[in-house]
Amino acid sequence: MSLTGKYDQQNIFAKILRDEIPAAKVYEDDHILSFMDAFPQSPCHTLVIPKQPSRNLFDTDPQQLLAVMTGVQKIAHAVEKAFSPDGIIITQFNGEAAGQTVFHLHFHIIPKFSELTMQRHGRGQIADMQVLRKQAEKISAAL
Ligand code: 5GP
Repeated sequence: MSLTGKYDQQNIFAKILRDEIPAAKVYEDDHILSFMDAFPQSPCHTLVIPKQPSRNLFDTDPQQLLAVMTGVQKIAHAVEKAFSPDGIIITQFNGEAAGQTVFHLHFHIIPKFSELTMQRHGRGQIADMQVLRKQAEKISAAL
């Protein structure tokens, strides 16, 4: 699969953007949406995506990327403030071979708590939506 293939309007994040499936939303503006990862690698694993469609870093408009990265920093600050993790990992995957599973650009904000073992990428268990919504509210309140 090419890094710059055709954008699939039916990918799961496009459906979240269209409100066709639920998500525990953290923040939204004209350019980006942030919501909780449904299969967290660590508690409070948060995602930031652009509203404009792109598969990954390679086909994203630079201005959109600027908005997304500014959003990543903003949400990461709020995650830090809300949950005081020992560290925060920020990741982004390009292409199936690199581990990308959803083909709409996204950045992972993964809090690292020293006492907890983090799940490997793509190995998280499905989280309870009520728990995710409470975490999202706490991050929103810290913005
Ligand atoms: P990737 O593997 O493409 O870097 O990341 C995709 C992320 O989307 C994974 O961390 C996965 O847990 C998350 N994910 C997959 N399906 C859903 C979903 O339906 N809702 C939410 N909120 N996250 C999802």
